[in-house]
Amino acid sequence: MSCEEIKTIIPSYIKHTATDQDISKVEEHLCICDSCRQHLAQLMDKPNTIPAPQQETLPEIPIKSDVNILEYVILGIGVIVLIFVVFLLIKG
Ligand SMILES: [Zn+2]
Repeated sequence: MSCEEIKTIIPSYIKHTATDQDISKVEEHLCICDSCRQHLAQLMDKPNTIPAPQQETLPEIPIKSDVNILEYVILGIGVIVLIFVVFLLIKG
């Protein structure tokens, strides 16, 4: 679920009018997304009373590390391309 979708649900989440399905989607997303947590905090205007997601069963957080691996891969490819270009330039 995208941040935009979560942000449209957050107002009803705060008012406790969201469906159970939407609530679990929002809470799962809040576990992995700082931006939406801050958005929620701003809407509530009480950062200290953000309902902490129930951590009894941890949702699949490895998604975040996959993103990091992807970032490293992209960075690695960028460095390799850069070295290759420099090599070609030196070679003339
Ligand atoms: Zn988000």
